[in-house]
Amino acid sequence: MDTPEQKYRPIIFCDFDGTISVKDSLVHLLDLYADPNWRDIEVKVKSGEIGTQESLTEEFNGFRATWETVKKHLLEDIEIDPHFTKFLSFCREIDMELIILSGGFTSFISLILSKYGITGVPFYANEIHFKEDRATLSFPHTSPDCRMCGHCKTQHLRKARENGYNFVIYIGDGTTDRCPIKESDLVFAKDSLARYCTRENIPFVNWSTFQDIKNYLKENLIQLSA
Ligand SMILES: [Mg+2]
Ligand SMILES: [Zn+2]
Repeated sequence: MDTPEQKYRPIIFCDFDGTISVKDSLVHLLDLYADPNWRDIEVKVKSGEIGTQESLTEEFNGFRATWETVKKHLLEDIEIDPHFTKFLSFCREIDMELIILSGGFTSFISLILSKYGITGVPFYANEIHFKEDRATLSFPHTSPDCRMCGHCKTQHLRKARENGYNFVIYIGDGTTDRCPIKESDLVFAKDSLARYCTRENIPFVNWSTFQDIKNYLKENLIQLSA
């Protein structure tokens, strides 16, 4: 007989920008309204020279647009992976919890999700507040254990394990996913995150749409829960 500790309890943590959304909403808006040197700041993040709280704060210091303008772009320009909604239904069918962890902003995510009629998915991200065409940021999820992340996603993984989840699945594409994948049991990575995993010898499954992830989980779930 299985003891409660041995019972297989998986949970999915999923990045938002460039993962659920096809285009990264921050990259898109910074390209439009930030000082053009924002990409130089981003290079420092990729090389590990500065963390994402510092980089985002600097990048949005030179950002000039109102919330009305930002909202318009988010609604008109940002689409989600065409298979995400079906993937979410699949997770709900098999009773698998999915939590969104983002290095972006809560107001952006809730707007984009509501555009697609997606409700009931928990998400954690940074905060952005607009006053006319200036934006100020706040970081409610920093971690004393991590100097790189403005929102350290790893703490949510640890909390899940404390709450009895024993198999952490992580889905991502970029820099803000580097920290949490080190504490995940199964990593789905694409783009720069896939290159990072290869460089760092972190095992991962390559993906391009949520259909690939669904297929992989369907094929391997029975094995995982055996
Ligand atoms: Mg991303
Ligand atoms: Zn971190």
